[in-house]
Amino acid sequence: MKLVFATANKNKVNEIQELISSDIQLLSLKDINCLEEIPETEPTIEKNASQKAFYIYNNYHFNCFADDTGLEVEALDGKPGVLSARYAGESKNADDNMNKLLNELKGISNRNARFKTVISLIIDGKETQFEGIVNGVIIDVKRGVKGFGYDPIFVPNGYNTTFAEMDLIEKNKISHRALAVGKLVGYFFFK
Ligand code: IMP
Repeated sequence: MKLVFATANKNKVNEIQELISSDIQLLSLKDINCLEEIPETEPTIEKNASQKAFYIYNNYHFNCFADDTGLEVEALDGKPGVLSARYAGESKNADDNMNKLLNELKGISNRNARFKTVISLIIDGKETQFEGIVNGVIIDVKRGVKGFGYDPIFVPNGYNTTFAEMDLIEKNKISHRALAVGKLVGYFFFK
């Protein structure tokens, strides 16, 4: 079976291909000649993942999956959530996003937050979603240079280091994305 991963990043595709049966041939957006920007206009992470996957299924007629991720901060009623990438503006600048968040949390003692990844898989028009969550806290000052996005201000529960101070191998053992991908891989493995 051919299965499209709605990403232009071939490395991400290769990473997941390694984990699933070779009976499933993973394709990237480039492989199916989908070069346009896929709409992500929904108000929740779940609906955005769904929107992206159905866009590919309906327009390109391939079974497929898409992911969407956001950081949800408890004291901010789940913000930035679906807006995580462009929290401080369309330039999608990680430093600006973190600065905005840290400003909003100034003087607030509840620092609980979580990263959430949702993968939406569509096989023959039927959708299944897989969720990965990692709980943690937002610290006051950025620490570490690895990773991306909000990694320098997020410390997962049970750890003293931010995601940006961890090696990728360590982050991948516990991350929201790894958990969701693990569930996706399990779905195909146990089928
Ligand atoms: P995406 O849906 O994977 O593109 O993620 C949306 C946004 O969430 C990214 O642009 C980042 O700002 C943030 N984000 C997603 N995953 C992570 C992560 O593992 N660490 C830090 N920030 C992340």
